[in-house]
Amino acid sequence: MPAHRRWETVVAANWNTVRVQRPAGFNGEETGRRPEARPSDLVERLVTPARADRLTHLEVLPPRAADPVEWPPWVSPEVRNAFEARGLRRPWRHQAEAATSAHAGEHVVLATGTASGKSLAYLLPALNDALSHRGPRAARGATTLYLAPTKALAQDQLAKVRALGLDVRATTHDGDSSREQRDWARDHGEYLLTNPDMLHHSLLPGHQRWSRYLGSLRYVVVDECHHYRGVFGAHVSHVLRRLRRLCALYGADPTFVVASATVADPAAHAERLTGLPFRAFTDDGSPRGQVSLALWEPPFTSYVGEHGAPVRRAASSETADLLADLVAEGVRTLAFIRSRRGAEHVAMTAAGLLEEVSPELPQRVTSYRGGYLPEERREIEAALRRGDLLGLAATNALELGIDVSGLDAVLLAGFPGTRAALWQQLGRAGRGGQDALGILVARDDPLDTYLVHHPDVLLRAPVEASVFDPSNKYVLAPHLCAAAAERPVTEADLPLFGPGTREALDALTGAGLLRKRAAGWFWTDPRRASDLADIRSAGGWPVQLVEGSSGRVVGTVDPGSAHGTAHPGAVYVHMGETWLVSALDLDEHVAVMERAEVDYSTAAREVVDIRVVEERDHTRWGDCRLAFGTVHVSSQVVSFLKRRQPSGEVVAEETLDLPPRTLETTAVWWTVPATVLEDAGLAEADLPGAAHAAEHASIGLLPLFATCDRWDIGGVSTALHPDTGQLTVFVHDGHPGGAGFAERGYAVARDWLTATRDAIRACTCPDGCPSCVQSPKCGNQNNPLDKHAAVALLDVLLG
Ligand SMILES: [Zn+2]
Ligand SMILES: [Zn+2]
Repeated sequence: MPAHRRWETVVAANWNTVRVQRPAGFNGEETGRRPEARPSDLVERLVTPARADRLTHLEVLPPRAADPVEWPPWVSPEVRNAFEARGLRRPWRHQAEAATSAHAGEHVVLATGTASGKSLAYLLPALNDALSHRGPRAARGATTLYLAPTKALAQDQLAKVRALGLDVRATTHDGDSSREQRDWARDHGEYLLTNPDMLHHSLLPGHQRWSRYLGSLRYVVVDECHHYRGVFGAHVSHVLRRLRRLCALYGADPTFVVASATVADPAAHAERLTGLPFRAFTDDGSPRGQVSLALWEPPFTSYVGEHGAPVRRAASSETADLLADLVAEGVRTLAFIRSRRGAEHVAMTAAGLLEEVSPELPQRVTSYRGGYLPEERREIEAALRRGDLLGLAATNALELGIDVSGLDAVLLAGFPGTRAALWQQLGRAGRGGQDALGILVARDDPLDTYLVHHPDVLLRAPVEASVFDPSNKYVLAPHLCAAAAERPVTEADLPLFGPGTREALDALTGAGLLRKRAAGWFWTDPRRASDLADIRSAGGWPVQLVEGSSGRVVGTVDPGSAHGTAHPGAVYVHMGETWLVSALDLDEHVAVMERAEVDYSTAAREVVDIRVVEERDHTRWGDCRLAFGTVHVSSQVVSFLKRRQPSGEVVAEETLDLPPRTLETTAVWWTVPATVLEDAGLAEADLPGAAHAAEHASIGLLPLFATCDRWDIGGVSTALHPDTGQLTVFVHDGHPGGAGFAERGYAVARDWLTATRDAIRACTCPDGCPSCVQSPKCGNQNNPLDKHAAVALLDVLLG
C-alpha cells in the first residue's frame, strides 16, 4: 500500500471529529482556533499501528511558571514607559538581574531559551544610558555597539529599537550603508548595529575617525554568540580584542553583554571570545507551556544502497506526512528542512496529501525561503497568526528576519547540528506559555540515529560546548598584522592576544611583514593589513562562487572545502538555493555555477593520508593510547556520488581529476597494540574494516561534543600506521592550524568514543548502513567496513 493511502485512512477517520469540535478554527477567526487536544495526545494520534515503531521516545516537559519582577529602580521612567507601551508590563527575573549587572559595569552573558527576551537585558542599560548621559545641547549620550553575526539580524534589531519610539540615535553600519549614513553614525550614532566583518574591515582600521565614538563606548553587545565557533569564532575573538585595545586608547572600558542560545558553560565561552571575566545568567524566568518532544525514526525502505545496505526513508518525506497530518488536525506547524528545494518538496507533498482530505486544505500550506521583502514576510507572519496558514515548510533562513509566534508544533527534518539550534528551533512553538509539540525526525546518519535512541543526551546532558581556538597561529597572525597597522603592538599588548603571541610576532617579523622597533612591532607594508584575514574563511584565498550567466559573485567558499563542495558537477546548496557547479578554476579561485532544479544531491569522496608531525599530549587507557597533536594531512577528492532525492538512492559515481591538497592541522588519534587485539579475539582480517567503521562513526558523533559539522573534520584509519606501528584511528580538523574540534575530541574522548560505540550498536541494520558506519564522503567506497568488529574494537579500547 503506498504511504499516502495508509495515511489518508487515518486522517480521514480523525477528521470528522476534528471538524465537529472546532469549526471556527478553519475560518481563520481568532477565537476557537486552537486545537483542543494536548500535544501529547496528538502524538498518540500520529502513531498509527503502521508507524508504531517509528516513535522512539516521547518526552513531556512540564510547564514553567513565569517569574516577573519589578522594573529595576535605575531605569528611567521614559525607557520604562516605552516598553510598557509596547505591552511589556514587567520584566522577567533573568532580564532585570542581567540588565542591572551590566548597568553596574559587570560583563554578563545570558544563555536562556528562544523567546525569553534576552534583548531587554542589554536594551535597558543601553537605551537608559544613552538618554541619561546626554550632554548640553543634546550632545551624544553613552554609546552602544551591537554586533550580530549577520546583516539581516542587525536590520531586524534596528526595527525593534526604533519601534520603541525613544529619542535614541540608532542606526546600522554595514556594507549597504551610504557614505552619509556612515558619517552620521560616526558623528552622532548612539546605538550602532553592525557585524564583525564591518568592525574588522572598516571601523577598526579607520579608528582615528571613530575616536570620539569609541571613546564614549559604554556597552558592547555580542548577540547570538553561539554562531562564533570554529575558525570564525577564533577570528571574531581577535576582532574583539582589537576593539578592546582601541577603546582603551581612547579612554573607554566598555561593558560586554553577550547573548547566546543555551550552550555549555556560557561564561567560559564569553571569556574565550573576549578575554574578559563574565557573570552568566541561565535561569529562564519566562513562562513556558508543556512541551512534548517526540523522537522519530523513519523506517527502512526497499531501496538498496551501497554494498546492499538498507536505506531509510528520507527525513523530508516523513516530515511531509507528519506536516499533512498536523495541518489536517488544525495544528499550526512549522517544519524546518535543510534546503529550499527540500522545503518546497515538503510543502508540495503535504498539500497533495491534504487535497485528498479536503479541497480547501492545500492552500493552507506553503514553503518559505529567505530573501522575501519585509512586507511579504509580515503577510506570512500575519497569515500564520490568523490561522489562515496552518503549515509552513522553511529552511533555517527563517531564523533570521521573520517573527512567527503562537505556533503549536515544530517539525525538524534531521538534527540541526547542535542541541543549541535544536532548542532554538523548537522554541518557535508554544510562545507565551502555550503548550507545544516538537518532533525530531532522524536523517540517515550516525548522529541522528544515536540521538533518537538516546533521548537523555538531548534532554538531560548539558548542551555542547561552543568550540574555537584563539591560539590558532593561522588566525592569530593576520590579526596581529591588522592590530599593528591600527597601532603598533607593544609588550603590554601580549597578554591581550594570548599565548603564542610573542612567537607569532617574531615569525611575522622574520617574514618581513612586521618591523620590530624599540616602541613595538610596526606594520610598514603598503597593503591593507586587514585584508590578510578573511574572517569567514579558514585561511588561504577564498574561492568565489560565480553565476556563469551573469558573472555575479554569489558567495565564497573556503579554499579547503572547495574541492569537496564546489567541484565540477557538484550540487551546491547556498542559502537554501540549489546550484549546479560547471567548473572549478583553482588558479583563479573561481567556481562557476548556475541555478538548477535537479532531483539529486552530490557527495564528494576523498582519500586521505596522515603523518604525525608532533605529539602534544597523550593518555593511556590500559595498553591502548590516546594522543593529540599536530599532523600533516594530504587529501585528494577523487570522485563524487549522485544520490536521487529524496530517496537517497545512489544513481551514479563520477571520477574527478583534482590535485591533492596538503594541510598542517591538529588531530586526535588512538592506537591499540596487536597483542591486545589478539587477546580480544579480533581476527587480523577484520581489523581494517573494524578501524574504518569506528573512524566513520566517530566522525559522525564528534559534532555532539564540539560544535562542528561532520564536513569540518576528517579521518584516517589503518590496521598498521607507520608512525605508531599499531592499529590507529585519526580524526583531524579540516582547517589549517586546527579549529579546536580535534582538541575537544581529545578532552572528551571517553564520552565521545562511548557514544560512537553505542551509536553503532543501536542501529538495527544487519551489516552497516549510512545511519551507523557508512560515510557519504568515504574515498574508499565504504569498503571495507565491519560494523560488528568495530563494536568489539571500541569495547577493547574503552575497556
Ligand atoms: Zn546501520
Ligand atoms: Zn572511509
